[in-house]
Amino acid sequence: MSQQTLIIDCHGHYTTAPKALETWRSRQVAALNDPANRPRVAELVISDDELRESIETNQLRLMRERGSDLTIFSPRASFMAHHIGDFEVSSTWAAICNELCYRVSQLFPDHFIPAAMLPQSPGVDPATCIPELERCVRDYGNVGINLNPDPSGGHWTSPPLSDRAWYPIYEKMVEHNIPAMIHVSTSCNSCFHTTGAHYLNADTTAFMQCLTSDLFKDFPTLKFIIPHGGGAVPYHWGRFRGLAQELKKPLLKDHLLNNIFFDTCVYHQPGIDLLTKVIPVDNILFASEMIGAVRGIDPETGHYFDDTKRYIEASTIVVGDDRHKIYEGNARRVFPRLDAALKARGR
Ligand SMILES: [Zn+2]
Repeated sequence: MSQQTLIIDCHGHYTTAPKALETWRSRQVAALNDPANRPRVAELVISDDELRESIETNQLRLMRERGSDLTIFSPRASFMAHHIGDFEVSSTWAAICNELCYRVSQLFPDHFIPAAMLPQSPGVDPATCIPELERCVRDYGNVGINLNPDPSGGHWTSPPLSDRAWYPIYEKMVEHNIPAMIHVSTSCNSCFHTTGAHYLNADTTAFMQCLTSDLFKDFPTLKFIIPHGGGAVPYHWGRFRGLAQELKKPLLKDHLLNNIFFDTCVYHQPGIDLLTKVIPVDNILFASEMIGAVRGIDPETGHYFDDTKRYIEASTIVVGDDRHKIYEGNARRVFPRLDAALKARGR
């Protein structure tokens, strides 16, 4: 029999970074119009002990309690805030945040492997993100990136993901064999609550942008993970199949499902059941986004809403080898650099 399944959480952010990070960022934001007074990168000092404590008492503690082994770990999504400042501001901020996730991965190599945020900025050519992307892959061992389809923070001023403006990023993703999680950041549009509306809207929007296009004809090996269970996508799968038919697109399994994957950040059993009934098991990756948007305990179950492993364990739909795929197999396939890093460690 195969060895025990590795529980890989493909969606975790460094939401618990030491306070000094937020303080530095506040100073950077306060000096947006006064570049001479922006804090220097060297002024941010966070020791390994501080990093260790922030992880051991939070994410790692919960991973041990809940029984997950390894988290693909990226900078705090809501703090990316690509809408703030210009490219220079985003670039400095992304470099700092990516370095911290890298350091965490070095301190806890068995439990964290990094994915990068990009220094996106509204109205700026996405190709400007490539140096940071390459640095993170080459020097930091990043196995994926988070790509923000809306750097404006809720105003949707960028072209759709199928637009050629994004192609330089896709070419690098294909070259380096890394997938992107399509992940927005804070909403600065008061119509959209960040994690309750903007995130789920963006998940649904990204899927539809891919559906209406032929992006994956141009990039047959490009891979996107749509987080938060795919937003409204699994629930409205019939609508999307019907729209694809109207648009004379191929069946969704041929049109999109070689390239698009969904995570399990759905915080109740009926939602996970729906996701796993509707979406083929090969397209679902385990994730919790812990510690993230929803931190409370569900009074109906007595367990944390974001303890998503419980829903998989309680599922009567996902059984046997399907569970192995969701926990480990699919992640190794979608993140080939993760697979290679694990194999290099004999795992
Ligand atoms: Zn997230």
